[in-house]
Amino acid sequence: MFIGHFAPAMIAARHKDAPSLPVLFIGAQLVDWAFFGLLLTGAEKMRVTPGISAMNPMDLYHMPYTHSLLGSAIFALAFGALIFAATRNRTGALIAAAVVLSHWFLDLLVHVPDLTLAGSPPKMGFGLWNHPSIEMPLELALTFGSLWLYAKIAKPKALPLASLAGVLLLLQAVNWFGPVEPEVTAGTSLLAFFAFGLATLLAWWVYRSESRKQAG
Ligand SMILES: [Zn+2]
Repeated sequence: MFIGHFAPAMIAARHKDAPSLPVLFIGAQLVDWAFFGLLLTGAEKMRVTPGISAMNPMDLYHMPYTHSLLGSAIFALAFGALIFAATRNRTGALIAAAVVLSHWFLDLLVHVPDLTLAGSPPKMGFGLWNHPSIEMPLELALTFGSLWLYAKIAKPKALPLASLAGVLLLLQAVNWFGPVEPEVTAGTSLLAFFAFGLATLLAWWVYRSESRKQAG
């Protein structure tokens, strides 16, 4: 799951008390931001193992902090607390925390067993990455269905909206069909930061162009 993680952010952004779309984009990928950061330090690990799943050659064999349910819940609480401290809006903070937590459950659908409840086995994952004919349409439908539902409420301008849609599709296409890196390097993390950052920047542009009516 890659761009599909942004689906809960876009659905959540429909709510009048929700944080802004770019903040929710950060929340949706917060544990992956952290994972690629910890990858640089060696605290979490992955390696290239061709064939480990049909769609993703990355063997995510050690990510106890970011991709355990417990770890995700702690990230969710921290993010929610930060939003509450900044806005004093309890509903908005809860929405933000829920979006962070959604990441683990979406990963659970697609990952081969590499997720944990609290950092140690049993490892979990329903493995849709072995079923591209299900995973690919599912991820596209989630992402672009959510974008459409968001746009109906928030009414952003067409150019930023089309740019976000186009870039999300492009990033996913590179992820699915681009060349596979022979090994995991610092560049792997930098590329991930670039992709998440670009998507978030475009979400900010879309947010700035919103013309939704302020609901009473
Ligand atoms: Zn993840």
